[in-house]
Amino acid sequence: MVLTELSPIFMNKSFKNKNFDNFKSENLNWEIIQSEMKNRLGLDIYESWLKKIEFVEEFKNYLLLSVPTRFIRDWITSRYLDQILQTIKSYKKEIIRIEFKVIEKKENNDHIKDTFDNLDNKENISFIKDSYLQYNRIDPNKRFENFVIGSSNKLAYEASVKVSENISHYNPLYIYGGVGMGKTHLLNSIGLQLKKSNKVMFISAERFMYQFVKSIKNNDMVKFKEYFRNTDVLLIDDIQFMNGKEAMQEEFFHTFNALLDKGSQIILSADRAPNKLSRIQERIKSRFSGGLVVDIQKPDYDLRKKIVQKKTSELDNLYSGQIKISNEIQEFIGREIFGSVRELVGAVNRIVSFSRIYNKLPSLAETKSILKDLINLVENKVTIDLIQTIVCKFFKISKNEMLSSRRSRYLVRPRQTAIYLTKILTSKSLPEIGREFSNRDHTTIIHSVKTIEKLKEKDPVMIENINKLKNQILYNNKENEI
Ligand code: ADP
Ligand code: MG
Repeated sequence: MVLTELSPIFMNKSFKNKNFDNFKSENLNWEIIQSEMKNRLGLDIYESWLKKIEFVEEFKNYLLLSVPTRFIRDWITSRYLDQILQTIKSYKKEIIRIEFKVIEKKENNDHIKDTFDNLDNKENISFIKDSYLQYNRIDPNKRFENFVIGSSNKLAYEASVKVSENISHYNPLYIYGGVGMGKTHLLNSIGLQLKKSNKVMFISAERFMYQFVKSIKNNDMVKFKEYFRNTDVLLIDDIQFMNGKEAMQEEFFHTFNALLDKGSQIILSADRAPNKLSRIQERIKSRFSGGLVVDIQKPDYDLRKKIVQKKTSELDNLYSGQIKISNEIQEFIGREIFGSVRELVGAVNRIVSFSRIYNKLPSLAETKSILKDLINLVENKVTIDLIQTIVCKFFKISKNEMLSSRRSRYLVRPRQTAIYLTKILTSKSLPEIGREFSNRDHTTIIHSVKTIEKLKEKDPVMIENINKLKNQILYNNKENEI
């Protein structure tokens, strides 16, 4: 798809004045553009849509970018293309159009790896990314009250509350967990709470690093030290990014000790346990483990559902009661999006964007399409064979019986159930499903799906069986793998 320029050249003055001389290189730096898009279009739109855009190649006067699905491509081009182009042009005015290519991604956590690779290779990028963030900025929206608690994050939550009530109770407090699990949210909540009566410093490890390097360059180390050693509460997010930065670790170690000595509270977050941190000095790791170490696990279904409900009702309030996402869709999101809370929140945001723009709620089929890139992974894993195996086991029949043409009652129901589950859990078409069930006609498939849907309406046992089977199919197979 080729899209040409829609608006005149646009130069963002305030942006131009900033000191990005180092980066006025020949080629566009996509991370900078993304960061700027986040600024211009807002975090919600960025997280839900624009973050998915990847840089592919730069040509003389146009850019080739990729997105994971057609739906996202169409959505982005119909709504944000103009602003994206403007943003790009403010860095490179030669670019007059953008081409999008759909590249489906299989690996869900590729981006995590990319982040690490980038940090190792191009350290300066983190400086740019961070230069948009205010120093020591605490987000007033990430509070304890809107942190939803479940079994996977309860300990981390409780420890955070405890530290906020009583400094030095656990010192340091070290919270770890995968990307998008709520670590920053918790650190932020602690910061908000303690800010009321303490001097609080909340900073990402990347930013700490940047400040450190800058003060060395400017001969300002004394100030740097004073600055950090003066706080009552130091919160450092994503500490894993300190890996391999020896000089900085050295300085950090001393700051850390100085703060502990004077009774200041230190709270750290990381993507892994202290002993798993790579290229970080042993003595630092052991300091990290000296207080309380808690982890946040992946949310279970129960928590996912609660988070979806909470987010939906928050957004509903925000838009004066106009967003009523059906239970069916809420359940669908809770069931299908199991990677991280961030993805869950992103999914709800997308549904809300959709319903605000089209003035209606998406159907289940539309929901699947809107969230396709987030649920792809699941779809790939759930095969018809798996469904048949699990259903046969559940009803204690053999696969031969299920696939036979016999119509005894004890075989018909399980067969229809398996067909129904295939329809709702995979993206297979009716004829495809028919083929996998011994070449049954697609009308038989429709009939089976309808029969089960009807039974579900009035038969609680049926509902329960279907739910059990769904869980077995979805979770047996995927829940533990990321
Ligand atoms: P991390 O720092 O672990 O990568 P974040 O704290 O940035 O994750 O969380 C990602 C998103 O999910 C944020 O919008 C955050 O507010 C939200 N979030 C995470 N956990 C919860 C929770 N338990 N309840 C409500 N929102 C949450
Ligand atoms: Mg974070």
